[in-house]
Amino acid sequence: MPEESIDEIIEEILRESEEKESAEEEELVVTEEVYECPVCHHTVPPDAKFCPYCYAVFEDDVNYRDLTDTLIKKLKMLAKYASERNIPLPALKKSVGEAKRRALAKDFQGSFEVLQEAYVNIMNTIIPELKKEIENYTAVIGVDSSLREIYGRAENLLEEWDINGVITHLNELKSRAEKLSKELRLFLEELDRAERAVTIAKNFSINPEKAVEAIDRAKDLADKKQYREARDALKEAFTPLREDIDATVEKLLKIAHEELMRRVTRGGKETKRVLRLVKELKIYRDEGNWLGVLEKMDAISKELSKH
Ligand SMILES: [Zn+2]
Repeated sequence: MPEESIDEIIEEILRESEEKESAEEEELVVTEEVYECPVCHHTVPPDAKFCPYCYAVFEDDVNYRDLTDTLIKKLKMLAKYASERNIPLPALKKSVGEAKRRALAKDFQGSFEVLQEAYVNIMNTIIPELKKEIENYTAVIGVDSSLREIYGRAENLLEEWDINGVITHLNELKSRAEKLSKELRLFLEELDRAERAVTIAKNFSINPEKAVEAIDRAKDLADKKQYREARDALKEAFTPLREDIDATVEKLLKIAHEELMRRVTRGGKETKRVLRLVKELKIYRDEGNWLGVLEKMDAISKELSKH
């Protein structure tokens, strides 16, 4: 091959790749211009004929039969996940029947529209359920960074309506969480209790700041896999709040006493329950178990507010 022609070829390649690059840039600019789907509010490309998330059609010249096929596959998958999770989808059967009737009458657009509406409804039913399932792992991810990553991805996929992806990540979360050591699991249970106690303290207008700091220290220890020390730290987390808790207990016991006096003529189970809770609270207080005290305060105030 003569040298000259090699140069030409190289030049041609360079020219081509340059053209391609500028074409790519143009495409990027276009895709930066985005629209929001009016049905599911996802961001969609401006030239989209239908929403890639909820299948709402923006332009009529789409292939309704193809879209219908896609939706049927998705609906089958969703129905399977829903039944595995005992989520009832009462309207699905009716929608499928109606879609079939329209398809037989060669009304493919009408058939598609029925399925699309059913699809959006089902997604709106299933998404909150999956969200709850993901949130079951909130405590676990607090102490394990690799789980945290999977959790984050599952959340993003849920936003993207990628149910298959969400399920895959949920299964991964589940199997990894099961492998966590028993020590860690015990710590997580205690952590869960402590975090609920923080909420209880707030409900009683007790500033939980010092307990929150102690809980954070416990989490640090757990990060270093020192689970026993972490649990000890949790046990003492509410001790710095003891004076505030104690003062609030006095007020609560006074209210409980008045309430019970008012009810005493009626007696009954509720009164006995409150008395039992008060007794347990006092035992915890004597033991210096302030987390337990907060839990009993919560139970007493719930019991009193029932009537
Ligand atoms: Zn949409």
